[in-house]
Amino acid sequence: MTDALDGDGNAVRPDEPPPSRPPDDRFHRALIDDVRPPAWRNPKPIGKYDLVVIGAGPGGLIAAREAAVLGAKVALIERNLLGGDRLNVGCVPSKALIRTSRLYADLHDAENYGGQVPRDIAVDFPRVMARMRRIQARLGRADSARRLSEAGVDVYFGEASFAGSDTVAVAGEVLQFRKALIATGARPLIAPIPGLAEAGYLTNENVFDLTECPRRLMVIGGGPLGCELAQAFCRFGSQIIIAQDDPTFLPKEERDAAQILSDALARDGVEIHLNTTVVAVRTEGARKIVDLVSDDVSFSVSVDEILAGIGRAPNVEGLNLEAAGVRYDTETGIRVDDFLRTSNKRIYAAGDVCLEHKFTHAAEASARIAVRNALFLGRKRLSALIIPWCTYTDPEIAHVGLYVREAREKAIPVRTFTILMHDVDRAVTDGEEDGFVKIHVRHGTDRILGATIVARHAGEMINGLSFAIGEGIGLRAVARVIHAYPTQAEAIKMAADAYNRTRLTPMLKSLTRRWLAW
Ligand SMILES: Cc1cc2nc3c(=O)[nH]c(=O)nc-3n(C[C@H](O)[C@H](O)[C@H](O)COP(=O)(O)OP(=O)(O)OC[C@H]3O[C@@H](n4cnc5c(N)ncnc54)[C@H](O)[C@@H]3O)c2cc1C
Repeated sequence: MTDALDGDGNAVRPDEPPPSRPPDDRFHRALIDDVRPPAWRNPKPIGKYDLVVIGAGPGGLIAAREAAVLGAKVALIERNLLGGDRLNVGCVPSKALIRTSRLYADLHDAENYGGQVPRDIAVDFPRVMARMRRIQARLGRADSARRLSEAGVDVYFGEASFAGSDTVAVAGEVLQFRKALIATGARPLIAPIPGLAEAGYLTNENVFDLTECPRRLMVIGGGPLGCELAQAFCRFGSQIIIAQDDPTFLPKEERDAAQILSDALARDGVEIHLNTTVVAVRTEGARKIVDLVSDDVSFSVSVDEILAGIGRAPNVEGLNLEAAGVRYDTETGIRVDDFLRTSNKRIYAAGDVCLEHKFTHAAEASARIAVRNALFLGRKRLSALIIPWCTYTDPEIAHVGLYVREAREKAIPVRTFTILMHDVDRAVTDGEEDGFVKIHVRHGTDRILGATIVARHAGEMINGLSFAIGEGIGLRAVARVIHAYPTQAEAIKMAADAYNRTRLTPMLKSLTRRWLAW
């Protein structure tokens, strides 16, 4: 990752991946100027803060800004870079790379669209990464320390740890608080694979610092992170081998969605090993030899780099939570109730450090709830949130609400309306026919319980359905919405029309026939 921060006496994590630094170009320097200004001096705390926020990822940032706008005296503590995972080692860099990887995939497919491009399209990897850093620098301006300070937030850099039930220590100062919010996020979970640490590996914390595209890359884990980066690096020209110890990718998603993704990765040229476990890693010269077991078959592959993406672990260590009386679990994170309050009623938590759904928008939404509940006696509930999500592979896989299996577990009767993207005019004209829109309603009603969309722009399409679920808008109303033609989102209206057709009972049909005859 970026600058080592132990100058401030910060704890070094035991499972930290090998240190790595992005190229020190003007984009990186511009980013650092905003999110960790080298000449920054922490303020001197005066009196009690209304709210001390620990962690300046999307959750902490939104909480600090909202509280300051509402007139509270706020401190925000960050041990590394403002912006957290989203800006520095998560959503922003990964989506920037995915965009370029789609460009290369489209270029390879140019003939299908009547284009002529050379067969050997050269990938300029350093420029791809420079574009990514340029985008980080641009988006980092919104998270800058100076802007936060101008908005009335006291920004402290350093590792925060509780000194008591209403005090936090940071960089030699002790801050007193009325309320605190823990938004310390999560970090890559590293499987205890013998030899992995010795051989060296990449995680999301250093993969975006690469200056050369690995020739052969082993991706461990077929969750969103593993699948997104496997496809992107494959499209940059890496030979990708992906191992997933489940029988499908994205095990939470509907099986047919995961199957479409698996087919898409295979078409891109990814070597797929499902139901396969990495059992050991060795080195032979500069090569890393990965030993795998699939059922009872053992085999090895030789690669240049290994990307470990098997999950996320909450950042609860080093916070001295015991001193504050905050209960936590090293796997599931800080324990919170539905109002996001911890076992210390002055202290709340939000984002990846306590949520099952580890997404930027979930971190932000939960932080908003926590601020209202903490400072304004609010009674907003986490369980009331409708949280969609999307895996940004090609095609994308987006979901909101219940899965059919969850509805069945809850004994809720479900009826599903499915539209295949190859029946949607715009998907056909775009040559983006892979996928479907599936909307589940409570049987006998038009109440939307959940939806899965597999489509090139599924992430854009799912938002309309999140809105409908959140506002209690049923499929009958969705069918009344005029969708612009031709758009891929028309698939949603087509599913709603399919629902409407089921309301035409034989009795209604015969009445209509009689009426028209008359
Ligand atoms: C590769 C990748 C791609 C992703 N893509 C997406 C996506 O497309 N869409 C999406 O919604 N989500 C995505 N995510 C998830 C998203 O990045 C996280 O859900 C989000 O950043 C969580 O926000 P947060 O505020 O809870 O925590 P974080 O962003 O992790 O921020 C926590 C901050 O707390 C700081 N901190 C920790 N401990 C301390 C301490 N003791 N003292 C001071 N500071 C501390 C950390 O340095 C960090 O800056 C992705 C994640 C990864 C890894």
